[in-house]
Amino acid sequence: MVFAPDTEVALRTVVNLINTAANGRESVRQLRRELSAVWTAGEDAAVETVNRLLRDANALPQLMKHDGWDWHLHATAPEAPLADRMSTEAAMALADVIRSKEMDRLRMCESEDCDAAVLDLSRNRSKRYCDTGNCANRAHVAAYRARQAAAG
Ligand SMILES: [Zn+2]
Ligand SMILES: [Zn+2]
Repeated sequence: MVFAPDTEVALRTVVNLINTAANGRESVRQLRRELSAVWTAGEDAAVETVNRLLRDANALPQLMKHDGWDWHLHATAPEAPLADRMSTEAAMALADVIRSKEMDRLRMCESEDCDAAVLDLSRNRSKRYCDTGNCANRAHVAAYRARQAAAG
């Protein structure tokens, strides 16, 4: 495990949120654009976004224990608006990533015509393609064909 379990859950949620707009799929709004920008941002710009999201949602971290989860941080009250809860959860997870110096685990899919976000939680930092479609498969097939063509 690279990050705390609730951080990894939150990061996966962010990737899913970003990728619902990837590859021309119907887009939703500002939060997704801001989170998406973090994926390709430098550290200072990412910090700015994270701090602003936390400020705008009036984040107030509190330790909580519920539903079989051990102590973890919540930064919004359960009655906070959904948008605030989503942005705060994302910002807290990204704060973990930034202070762990792990921003290189946030990258874009390497498939040529794909603009989906990739979250690399692999031990050896080897994940190159997104989970939204067939990018890994297509890359393998293309590499195989290229080898065949070179051999033939
Ligand atoms: Zn919780
Ligand atoms: Zn992809």
